[in-house]
Amino acid sequence: PVILAIESSCDDTSAAVMAGGEILANVVATQQVHEQYGGVVPELASRAHQQHLIPVVQEALRRAKVQKSDLDAIAFTQGPGLLGSLLVGGMFAKTFALALGKPLIAVNHMRAHILAHFIRDPKPAFPFLCLTVSGGHTQLVIVRSALDMQIIGQTIDDAAGEAFDKTAKLLGLPYPGGPHLDRQARQGNSTRFPFPVGAMPGYDFSFSGLKTSVLYFLRQQSAADQDFIKNNLADLCASIQYTIIQTLLRQLQRAAADHGLTQVALAGGVAANSGLREALQNLAAEKGWQVFIPDFEFCTDNAAMVAMAGHFQYEVGDFATQFVSPDPRLKLT
Ligand code: ATP
Ligand code: FE
Repeated sequence: PVILAIESSCDDTSAAVMAGGEILANVVATQQVHEQYGGVVPELASRAHQQHLIPVVQEALRRAKVQKSDLDAIAFTQGPGLLGSLLVGGMFAKTFALALGKPLIAVNHMRAHILAHFIRDPKPAFPFLCLTVSGGHTQLVIVRSALDMQIIGQTIDDAAGEAFDKTAKLLGLPYPGGPHLDRQARQGNSTRFPFPVGAMPGYDFSFSGLKTSVLYFLRQQSAADQDFIKNNLADLCASIQYTIIQTLLRQLQRAAADHGLTQVALAGGVAANSGLREALQNLAAEKGWQVFIPDFEFCTDNAAMVAMAGHFQYEVGDFATQFVSPDPRLKLT
């Protein structure tokens, strides 16, 4: 099938075209307007989606060399995400499908992050264990098939991406802080400042303790030395990053062992973190795991992954009606 997919769950407006499981175009317009506020402003995100969506769709069709009449289905992100943002993409998809007389496919954004692994080779075989680490979620998922997934652990407070962004903010780094913290950490000593690893039972995660301990530590040190952060930035970043990675990998390791899974996958924007990639590769070498990490363009929000999910749903005839509505809290299972 030839599928047009729309992604508008947060602050990226994206459209992709996929034919028979092959990605032909993936266009992403990232919204700059939020930077000055240090976080995504939902109302502004909805407006920017409204402005970007049609040009982005047109560009995706142009790059794919596909006519509207060639499309077999329209896929869109139903949730989870920001309600206003989801409404813009969802309304467009419904209207477009209705006008073209084509079926509509409602996609779960977190499933799409996981199915991004099937856009390019090498692809994991089922079942595999996926650690999804994004701006809003941290989930350990057993992926039994493209349609059968089970969350076995998740964060009870902040997501891993939030842990990066919030601690980076405490260090005075620009938003979103994750990539900046990553860059600084490469020059730093990761064992210089020991921060607590959020210890949770089972396979759950907790990151709010780290944020609080970094806040108190910085207050204390900065009271004695005004330039403490400036003079120790790389070591602070490396130590914080190390703690987040330890928190993630400890649960991942336990889950893989308990469930006898040896194929381990990363998904979501935090999968771009160089320290996490390296630590996971090292752990995998030690354990004999096979590791899968999608290209960066398919880790952050993009419509290609929505098209991939749409492709699998098309194959089993999982279509939505015109009564479908966005669900900001849509569950993975
Ligand atoms: P969700 O899918 O949960 O709704 P999202 O799609 O908005 O969230 P992503 O785009 O997948 O989130 O990821 C964005 C997050 O990834 C941000 O928190 C950002 O700081 C973080 N991030 C991106 N690159 C890096 C990096 N190199 N190191 C650490 N964090 C990073
Ligand atoms: Fe996302």
